[in-house]
Amino acid sequence: MSCSRVTFLCGRAGVCALGAVAAKYAGDERLLDHYLTQFKEIKLSSILPNELLYGRVGFLWASSFINHHIGRGTISSNHSRLLVDEIINDGRKLAKKGKCPLMYEWHGKKYWGAAHGLAGIMHVLMDMELTPDEVEDVKGTLHYMIDNRFPSGNYPSSEGSESDRLVHWCHGAPGVSLTLAKAAEVFGDKDFLQAAMDAGDVVWNRGLLKRVGICHGISGNAYVFLALYRLTNKVEYLYKAKAFACFLHDRAQRLVCDGEMHGGDCPYSLFEGIGGMAYLFLDMIEPSEARFPAYEL
Ligand SMILES: [Zn+2]
Repeated sequence: MSCSRVTFLCGRAGVCALGAVAAKYAGDERLLDHYLTQFKEIKLSSILPNELLYGRVGFLWASSFINHHIGRGTISSNHSRLLVDEIINDGRKLAKKGKCPLMYEWHGKKYWGAAHGLAGIMHVLMDMELTPDEVEDVKGTLHYMIDNRFPSGNYPSSEGSESDRLVHWCHGAPGVSLTLAKAAEVFGDKDFLQAAMDAGDVVWNRGLLKRVGICHGISGNAYVFLALYRLTNKVEYLYKAKAFACFLHDRAQRLVCDGEMHGGDCPYSLFEGIGGMAYLFLDMIEPSEARFPAYEL
């Protein structure tokens, strides 16, 4: 049976991948086997989108999560390769005649951000075994985004959008910065590092949002500084992460109660609510080990 909810964040792959990793750390071989078998039986529909929340790279991220925690090759690269082919083919097809080598659509819009667009798709592709021409397309797509960012340094939420408004992980500079930081690491490229730091400046200047979670809130934006700290060892970034975390710690609860800050549509959730803030506080205990949950490995 193929099911439509197959990603780490919003579907069955997430349940099975988390179950498997939890079983591994609990030392329960039988349960580990159970979840891995379930994971391998997930069938993907051929009409899935490509983005992270509901699409193909959301499933691939779950595979990378399993391999990262349980061991390389637990989910074989053959398993992932078919999906990578589909993602690359779709991207090249839609990009045709354009200046960007890969382009994707979700609900009729060509999104750029981490949740539904290019940043999220490129982020996951960088963990896959790619052919040299695929690597060039990933790099070319990231260069296209850098070349076409807003004069402010922020990134449009979708292709052609002129509204320089959102500074969220899901849409805008924060999600793109995390992807560029990864590109700087994977490709050892100084242009990507500079662009990641430029996007980090936008997050510092405009990223103290009126929400607490990690998807479109202050907690998520703090992870940009933690990624840049890990990458550059510059203590400036650690202080910036600490400033955002301390703001939340000191004031979020009161500001939410007073209605000055939004408590989130799902007030306790990891992505929208105080679950994400709690996760950030835990990560601040050992900042160099911090990873944006369900995005950085
Ligand atoms: Zn969001």
